[in-house]
Amino acid sequence: MPNDKTLRPRTQILTRGFDPSLSVGSARPAVFRSSTYVFSSPEAAERAFDISSGRARLREGEQVDLIYSRFNHPNAEILEAHLVPIEAGATAALVFNSGMSAIMTAILTFVRPGDTIVYTVPIYGGTQHLIEDFLTLFGIHGVGVIAGDSKKLDSAIHAAKNLKMVLVETPANPTLIMSDIQMACDSAAAAAKAAGTAKALVMVDNTLLGPAFQHPLMHGADLVMYSATKYLSGLSDMIGGALLAKDAELIRLMSSKRGLFGTILQPDECWMLDGRLTTVGLRMTRASENAQQIAAALAGHPKLERVIFPTLFEDAEQKRIVEKQCDQPGAMLSLVIEGGKKAAFDFLRTIRIARNAVSLGGVESLVCHPKSTTHSGFTEQEFKDAGVVEGLVRVSVGIEDWRDLLADFERALNAV
Ligand SMILES: *Cc1c(COP(=O)(O)O)cnc(C)c1O
Repeated sequence: MPNDKTLRPRTQILTRGFDPSLSVGSARPAVFRSSTYVFSSPEAAERAFDISSGRARLREGEQVDLIYSRFNHPNAEILEAHLVPIEAGATAALVFNSGMSAIMTAILTFVRPGDTIVYTVPIYGGTQHLIEDFLTLFGIHGVGVIAGDSKKLDSAIHAAKNLKMVLVETPANPTLIMSDIQMACDSAAAAAKAAGTAKALVMVDNTLLGPAFQHPLMHGADLVMYSATKYLSGLSDMIGGALLAKDAELIRLMSSKRGLFGTILQPDECWMLDGRLTTVGLRMTRASENAQQIAAALAGHPKLERVIFPTLFEDAEQKRIVEKQCDQPGAMLSLVIEGGKKAAFDFLRTIRIARNAVSLGGVESLVCHPKSTTHSGFTEQEFKDAGVVEGLVRVSVGIEDWRDLLADFERALNAV
């Protein structure tokens, strides 16, 4: 019963991966804070080390003793078992102590000096900094391609030397430009075939629309990555990350590097996040419905140059990608306020319900000014390419009553 794969995801998340008898009958998992685990026998210890080091492979149904919590611990295992059913197409998962450590561990597992990573831009600031300012020092090449342009991405993938990873973040932040995941995967496969090399791994940063509304593994992606800090945890009170794959071998390889780097999520945070997963679909659905109401109501507002939200897209290619790839438009929206930076700052000063903070994906609404905060490290050209203008305010819509949020946005706009 607990691991019945015929059950639907929303049921599996409450039934699989946790055996109450291992938590003295507790209906919810206990928190196992131990740093080290007592072996059942010296032979079991030897076997656990053989498996953990990769010298031997786990047999079907085999359980090995736990060793040490930097490698693995019960709360990580329970959480990973619960992440798998909510990501369509996934067979295995790994949890990390931040989204950035998930990205770093994935890259350092599969990419070597002399290799190339092709990535969509704009991409999360930390990811860009990691690739452009840090990994380049180790001889890893990063090639940024403007989001949403499948032809440019295809050319960059074909032109890349020793391409090992294609990293797609879709939608892009804060302009919500969509990139076609399947086309990126097809390009990677075609380029590998033409060059007679192994296919580069396609990793999708699915933080903004997943796991509820966008399913990259179903479009051919190899790896899905999350900042669990955002929608997965949903209460803006923890930092975490996750990686999922269809091929469990990829997860095994990254797991060994996670143990080496020490990037596993700690037991208490695993326990917190595990409880939150049961409501991620509910929270995201409510937040997305709120965002749709607010976007529709604010479209055409006289103080706004533009409301950026997937249901309001006009570009045919962007509409096509949304239609094909996104179950719902999500809960991120951007407002371009007439009057530039001063107007944007006045708006942020006046707004009462939504808080002026970076980050996103919490039950509470958050607003920020990307040009002077999250994206402030951009060059003028990057601002231009990414469409990050002075009047742009990014909104992460929460689960409050949308009528109160809308009234607050309208009041703040009138004060501009
Ligand atoms: C927040 C975020 C990250 C980084 O995650 P952390 O948990 O802060 O390390 C990466 N990608 C996206 C899209 C994010 O929003």
